[in-house]
Amino acid sequence: MSDPVEMNGSLAGELDSDDRASPPAGAKQVDQPRIERAVREILAAVGEDPDREGLRETPGRVARMYAELFGGLHEDPRLHLRKFFTEKYDEVVLVKDISFNSMCEHHMLPFMGKAHIGYLPAGRVIGLSKLARVVESVARRPQVQERMTETIADLLVEELEAKGVAVVVEASHSCMTIRGIRKPGSVCVTSAMRGIFRSHLSSRSEIMTLIYGKV
Ligand SMILES: [Zn+2]
Repeated sequence: MSDPVEMNGSLAGELDSDDRASPPAGAKQVDQPRIERAVREILAAVGEDPDREGLRETPGRVARMYAELFGGLHEDPRLHLRKFFTEKYDEVVLVKDISFNSMCEHHMLPFMGKAHIGYLPAGRVIGLSKLARVVESVARRPQVQERMTETIADLLVEELEAKGVAVVVEASHSCMTIRGIRKPGSVCVTSAMRGIFRSHLSSRSEIMTLIYGKV
């Protein structure tokens, strides 16, 4: 497991044109008029006048935003991983710093951060942009960070049949920073290890060192 390939997920040049910030395909299936009615209701419930000028367009705007933020619900992240190519390469592939935004399902407030994905291929290799798309698809739904981390790891194990998968997610939760205990700057780190990264301590240490750099 020497000479790993390290790639940085934020390198725009590595993304193909359909990986730009466009709403997920599933966004169209979100019932936007229903969200509009609900947002109007919330505005009235907090004591606002939903018909005053500044708020008139708000329900529609929020509906379009939710369609985008929850669009991942209506697509299958698995499909991105089916575009693997067969390659004899059998060293670690690591993609660091894949930025994402998701929505905490407990508070409907955003959490955002970075995902790092490492895997040890067993013949199936996937493009960097596809990994970023999987993260995007899994993130764009009501979510909890722990489940998001495990879902990404399990999808890679199932679709790539990799010998090992390591997923580390770091995120700041606005439900912790702007309300409740109000701890700005706190970062939640979750990890999911599969295959060799779970069973072999030395492999796990190696991938964690690759993710966080030499100590
Ligand atoms: Zn929350």
